[in-house]
Amino acid sequence: MAEQNRLKEEDAQAQLQKFFAAIPREIPLVLFCEPGKNEPFAEGARQIIRAIREITDKVSLREYTLDHALAKEWGISRSPTLVFAPENFKIRWLGAPLGHEVQTFMEALRIIGRQEPDLGKEAIKVLAKLDSPRAIKVFVSPSCPYCPQAAINGIRAAVARPDLISLELIDIQANPDLAEQYAAQSVPQTFANETQIGLGAQPEELFVASLAALEPQRVFIPDSDAEEIVCDLVIVGGGPAGLTAGIYAARSGLQAVVVEKGVLGGQVATTPMVENYPGFTQVGGKTLVDIMVTHALEYVKIFPGEEVQTITPGEVFTVTTTRRRYKTRAVLLATGAGYKRLGAPGEERLAGRGISYCSTCDGPLFTGKKVLMVGGGDSAVTEALHLHNIGVGVTMVHRRESLRAQERLLVSLRESGIPVLFNSEVVEILGEARVEAVRLKNNRTGEESTLPVDGVFIAIGYSPAVELARSLGAELTPDGYIKKDERHRTTVPGVYSAGDVEGGFKQIVTAAGHGSEAALAIFEDLINPYWTNQKKR
Ligand code: NAP
Repeated sequence: MAEQNRLKEEDAQAQLQKFFAAIPREIPLVLFCEPGKNEPFAEGARQIIRAIREITDKVSLREYTLDHALAKEWGISRSPTLVFAPENFKIRWLGAPLGHEVQTFMEALRIIGRQEPDLGKEAIKVLAKLDSPRAIKVFVSPSCPYCPQAAINGIRAAVARPDLISLELIDIQANPDLAEQYAAQSVPQTFANETQIGLGAQPEELFVASLAALEPQRVFIPDSDAEEIVCDLVIVGGGPAGLTAGIYAARSGLQAVVVEKGVLGGQVATTPMVENYPGFTQVGGKTLVDIMVTHALEYVKIFPGEEVQTITPGEVFTVTTTRRRYKTRAVLLATGAGYKRLGAPGEERLAGRGISYCSTCDGPLFTGKKVLMVGGGDSAVTEALHLHNIGVGVTMVHRRESLRAQERLLVSLRESGIPVLFNSEVVEILGEARVEAVRLKNNRTGEESTLPVDGVFIAIGYSPAVELARSLGAELTPDGYIKKDERHRTTVPGVYSAGDVEGGFKQIVTAAGHGSEAALAIFEDLINPYWTNQKKR
């Protein structure tokens, strides 16, 4: 038995020697400790580094107390803090590499010693585009098997962009006060610039995407450098209509792409809760979008953050965006609709200073405060309920004597006890630096009153995004939507429409349905183009 153990030890030593032989550079470590503070952790850190130094001379160690000038210069105040290769990187370990963290520690030495982040091509691309600093904190613990992945993501990022990225790996056992401060009671948790960007271990692409966006991402869409893309169909708009059209077009055999100027999912992405999409009794709007995007990515390339600037018709259309050019046989306009403005004095001046069109985005800023929700449709009621549920004191105001929202929502509204001011209009939004009150007018009695509020949420419908359709010379309906036939053909040959930009019921499920119809019609038309047949007639 003793002999077996000796052989195992020798084998482990040989493997470690091989591991360090493959590392080309010395890795300077600096350990800061305060006598009497977190001693077991400080001793743990010393022991593991000592053991490594017995095997290799690639690791050097200096140790200082917290009152040393270097600790002050580098802003180090916690014991123990281990600093890795400070001349090249900003990587610190607050605690000691124990338990599962030993794996992280060894990988950190390998990555830092080779000065190679070993990230995938897509992740490197995302980090290369970063143009402002990111201070990452990853909360870990020795007993957590998922922590090494989160920690190693951080190390790779800090090695890839030492000019912008700094990293603190925080052991929650050595630093329970920090865990408490960040409410990091479950690990791993990743923060960047004090914002939580990851809960649990993330795949590397989702980690870098979250780091770039400074919010957790659940879908990774690879970037493309192509200057020109040739395809059968360009779908403009990445909401439910566009994404569904992409799936159907690709499944019909068309080469389709989806181009989206803003956030994928359109209005759904900011809808707090969806309760009428078949298959989901209740699903967050953003979650539903992530599911749709993940599904669509199985079939089509998606280009978010890219705005279509011009569409030049012809035998082959040229679609020019802010990033590149597309040559395509057909175009589907699934451009959706934008928030309608109230037009009341003060609305423009105080925009972003207490006036909001998105309760999911801005609601949390008003927890414990009083706000007004303007509107009487499904959106206004859904959003008022969301605000109420997150602790915002919300009052609704509607210009008629009854709301037009679905009965189911009205029941929830009644149960919530949210007050509704009927027959009332907002005639002015008041406030100096930010919203302080609204001036209301009862349109029955003509009586005016002032209601003090901290915020005004506006959900009074949407205006269709028809600029591209207009620039193509496509006809619009008297209500301002795109005019189309039952096959979603607009009045411009080869140009189709789907979703809210066509008017109608404006439900997620109808948008998706129309997206599928349009894609199937486009497939049939591309095989047998009605516009050439028209010419022949
Ligand atoms: P909407 O149904 O068009 O309702 C807009 C509301 O705002 C109406 O009550 C309207 O008043 C009011 N309004 C319009 N202009 C106004 C102004 N200038 N001043 C004051 N009030 C004004 O819009 P939406 O609620 O955003 O819904 C849009 C579409 O999405 C709808 O088809 C809706 O069914 C759908 N949607 C569905 C769900 C769901 O199913 N859970 C959720 C959200 C949205 P009037 O009543 O006087 O016209």
